[in-house]
Amino acid sequence: MSDLHQLGVKALATLLRNKEVSAVEVATRFLARMGGNPHNAFLDIDSAVTLAQARDSDAKLAAGTAGPLEGVPVAHKDVFVTRDFATTAGSKILQGYRSPFDATVVQRLRAAGMVSLGKLNCDEFAMGSANENSAYGPVQNPWDTARVPGGSSGGSAAAVAAGLAPAATGTDTGGSIRQPASFCGITGIKPTYGRASRYGMIAYASSLDQAGPMARSAEDCALLLSAMCGGDIERDSTSLDMPTENFAAALDKPIEGLRIGIPQEFFGEGLADDVRAAVDAALREYEKLGAKLVPISLPRTELSIPVYYIIAPAEASSNLSRFDGVKFGHRAKDYTDLVDMYKKTRAEGFGNEVKRRIMTGAYVLSHGYYDAYYLQAQKIRRMIADDFQRAFTECDLIAGPVAPSVAWKFGENAGDPVADYLADIFTLPASLAGLPGMSVPAGFGTGGMPVGLQLIGNYFQEARLLNAAHRLQQATDFHLRKPEGI
Ligand code: GLN
Repeated sequence: MSDLHQLGVKALATLLRNKEVSAVEVATRFLARMGGNPHNAFLDIDSAVTLAQARDSDAKLAAGTAGPLEGVPVAHKDVFVTRDFATTAGSKILQGYRSPFDATVVQRLRAAGMVSLGKLNCDEFAMGSANENSAYGPVQNPWDTARVPGGSSGGSAAAVAAGLAPAATGTDTGGSIRQPASFCGITGIKPTYGRASRYGMIAYASSLDQAGPMARSAEDCALLLSAMCGGDIERDSTSLDMPTENFAAALDKPIEGLRIGIPQEFFGEGLADDVRAAVDAALREYEKLGAKLVPISLPRTELSIPVYYIIAPAEASSNLSRFDGVKFGHRAKDYTDLVDMYKKTRAEGFGNEVKRRIMTGAYVLSHGYYDAYYLQAQKIRRMIADDFQRAFTECDLIAGPVAPSVAWKFGENAGDPVADYLADIFTLPASLAGLPGMSVPAGFGTGGMPVGLQLIGNYFQEARLLNAAHRLQQATDFHLRKPEGI
């Protein structure tokens, strides 16, 4: 079967279960495609590990003890720690680091039968919107290699779009699943904060970090999400102690009468015409499916940028203090005393964006500025969450663009971090509120680049989001299109 790499998770799981193909054959096919590391999507590959897992899956398929996704490959963002692959979080400070354990999400997907293809490139410690902040080089967008794949889960999005993996894990703190999914024309969902365990996910901003799947369709995302989520309170106190849910159960439900809220603030001046046109067309499609578009307001949308870029760096400055050259990772070679060792290690190990955020974070938390910045940001964060609750009295879910533009060209925003920050405007509000959000392919814009539609749900409404996304994907074929030659 030569087109195995074009199949999604559901199709591969069915072939494997029916023994039309073996897990080793599937893994071999993807490993062959990954050879030469196209698009610089991967940071660690070990075919011996992957094939051993595939053989184990084949044994389970033969014995009738297979998990729901047995033998289907997945690749993990390098923010999830793994025993069998190196974990760097895209940083030099963790070069060659090996964790003694697997992250809960990695463990759960393996328990469901998925075979790991390796670790995916990302912005250093997930800080970025273009994958240009990885210490191991940028990732190319498979739709146009002169353009960024988005970030921070850029390797995850590029690998799925280029047929190097049928699905990938990502993490989303302020948009890192939704925005790269949008830029690379794939589907991705960030669940409600707390749905997936953060255990073994290298922390960036702990009150915002969430794991989620990235794949070719809403249906595939639903299958992965069902396997990934579940309470883990002994190891992550913010994980929700809720029973596991089958997010694929209601995919086909008709959406007649569904009230889709259209926030006017998401369609203002900064939105590029090509993105607006594609998003508008997707909304028309929803009307044809019987949904009702309801104008709503999220009045503090703009404030989400300063609020996020205070809270996230504040938490990062604390989280990243553990990288000091003592217990793990890089340690400077020549130093005079302990403080000198800390300084040199961190100066050598962290990249510029990470240093910028650590400094910003330390500043906003410092005595005398705490009330003016951090405390104020926390208050506005609460108001942003309240705005959503008001909006959800008028609608069942919210739709709008994921990002103000399609993927930009390498270097276009380089040297101007604020330009990247501003482009996060539509993904940050749901993150600050802890709400589930997803990106669904909605068409193409300038240069034939993909455009994503963002759907935001109320807490725990992932099934409803996936249902709405699936219905759109049954009526359109944007999610089926592939970059040339894939
Ligand atoms: N672009 C945002 C940032 O740089 C979001 C990143 C993320 O979600 N991890 O912080």
